[in-house]
Amino acid sequence: MAISSKVHDHMSRASWIRRMFEEGNDLKARFGAENVYDFTLGNPVMEPPVELVDTLRRLTADPEVGAHRYMPNAGYPSVRAKMAAALAAEAGVPVEARHVVMTVGAACGLNITLKALLDPGDEVLILAPYFVEYIFYADNHGGVAKVVETDAGFMPDPAAIDAAIGPRTKVLILNTPNNPTGVVYPRSLQEELAATLERAEARVGHPIYVISDEPYRKISYGDEVAPSLAIFRNSILCTSHSKDLALAGERIGFAAVHPDADDGDALVAAMTFAIRTLGFVNAPALMQRAVADLQHVTVDVGEYRRNRDLLLGALRDAGLECTQPGGAFYLFPRCPWDDDVAFIRQLQKHRLLAVPGSGFGRGGYFRLSYCVGREMIERALPALRRALEES
Ligand code: PLP
Repeated sequence: MAISSKVHDHMSRASWIRRMFEEGNDLKARFGAENVYDFTLGNPVMEPPVELVDTLRRLTADPEVGAHRYMPNAGYPSVRAKMAAALAAEAGVPVEARHVVMTVGAACGLNITLKALLDPGDEVLILAPYFVEYIFYADNHGGVAKVVETDAGFMPDPAAIDAAIGPRTKVLILNTPNNPTGVVYPRSLQEELAATLERAEARVGHPIYVISDEPYRKISYGDEVAPSLAIFRNSILCTSHSKDLALAGERIGFAAVHPDADDGDALVAAMTFAIRTLGFVNAPALMQRAVADLQHVTVDVGEYRRNRDLLLGALRDAGLECTQPGGAFYLFPRCPWDDDVAFIRQLQKHRLLAVPGSGFGRGGYFRLSYCVGREMIERALPALRRALEES
């Protein structure tokens, strides 16, 4: 076979979302798109806020000379300074431009950080259920993903994390608000985790970095979610505007290293080198300038909350067990029977598309993504009820 056996193996492990997407397209071709209820993708159907459109008009009407050229790999200094100022105000730590690297979405931030940190065989702790790409991203850079289970409410378990830490542990990836569960980790729990990590660092004799993946931070339904930099000293925040400004296709985000992180300056330099050598080179120029002044703008989170309430209510009325999400736009209910793949097939018979929990490392559950139009949810509810009555 021409392709590497590792990539082949990874492709088959990662295939659930893609498979459901393709099968969904077949169903749409047969029955018409309006008769298929697709809850598979975390691809917001909302349009970006009007402020983004206005900013793009302004930037393109009056372009700066050289606005489309190469730039420093970490991004425009003025843009990095604006990101740093917004983050410093939110986190209450003195983040400066030199701590920020503009990235090609959060995915790029995660990859350059892992590239900068990992030696072959270093371990990356990942909490299940997980965003499956973490496994591949760790492997991209010679790391070994080590999965740690969360508790019954999908919260990190500091004792389980502590027990998983060994001499090769270099990184813990956190993701709150969480994909696929929608849970938000309480600040007190994160502080407990920070203390656990500090003790573990003393035990193993080297830093353990938290990579905090935060593309959903501004999509929360309760109190504001604090940036990780407010809690973890040895931390790197990776985020994007894929979700909070509905700009997933524009590939714009940034990473920020805590000002007091061990070897922080070297880490930023290594991430800046990695963004170049991994072939991203730099974050998109126009989008950097567009989002620089939009750090206080977010899509209408109320719309997501209304979708959550509608779908969660219907699931619970039908007798399904489901943790109430505090953010992001995913529900992760328990299947009425153990085999989540068989249950997904049952939903599919009613033209309802979801992703089995096994795709996120937690069988017996399924994920519904509700960054969809409300009217699709309303149309889907009778199909959902019929599918559950038959199950
Ligand atoms: N991390 C999580 C948890 C995600 O859900 C996603 C996208 O869905 C990403 C990272 C990647 O985000 P981006 O599109 O900004 O690269």
